[in-house]
Amino acid sequence: MNFSELGLNPLLAKAVEKTGYNEPTPVQSQAIPAALTGADLLVSAQTGSGKTAAFLLPSLCRLVEASAAKGYGPRILVLTPTRELAQQVEKAARTYGSELRKLRTASLVGGAPYGPQLKLLSQPVDVVVATPGRLMDHMERGKIDFARLEVLVLDEADRMLDMGFIDDIKAIVAKTPAERQTLLFSATLDGVVGDLARQLTRDAQRIEV
Ligand code: AMP
Repeated sequence: MNFSELGLNPLLAKAVEKTGYNEPTPVQSQAIPAALTGADLLVSAQTGSGKTAAFLLPSLCRLVEASAAKGYGPRILVLTPTRELAQQVEKAARTYGSELRKLRTASLVGGAPYGPQLKLLSQPVDVVVATPGRLMDHMERGKIDFARLEVLVLDEADRMLDMGFIDDIKAIVAKTPAERQTLLFSATLDGVVGDLARQLTRDAQRIEV
């Protein structure tokens, strides 16, 4: 099984093959075709499983077509628990999106100066990777517009909850379009993560690897 056989657009499959991956990991083989249908997903996957490509590749496929909506805001939003993870995910988005025409990404994380982040938000952006606290700051200042948002990803949702981000996550999600696709990745889907998942997704498909 190769990446094109999962239904990925050839531009994405080409970028992945250039990175040297020969075949999809188990979470990628299951999550990519499911996400390409537009369905919401709840995926239990550990770090190291290839989960980043599992959510980025199907999400980036949407960027092959221009957005029908007006505005500058992100079409894909990824929430992560830490600054380090956000920066890794942004880097991965640039790698997997290397064959797309002028992909614009931004990472909005705490501990970094506001100036460069505000500059990125004053221009059109395709992918935003953010930690919940800093994204809330930008939202409260009216600096981010979700009118174009198509996909919301919660990466390491269990860790975000452990870190106390539940209220921020709910406030952010409340500002996103109801018809978005939601992809939730977490080491566990039990307990409070499961409760949150039920609130944020519609008819979600559950994938456990
Ligand atoms: P992740 O679980 O997303 O943090 O990915 C763990 C590591 O696996 C990263 O260094 C990726 O570059 C790498 N990786 C992801 N998918 C594949 C694949 N299909 N084949 C080989 N390596 C991969």
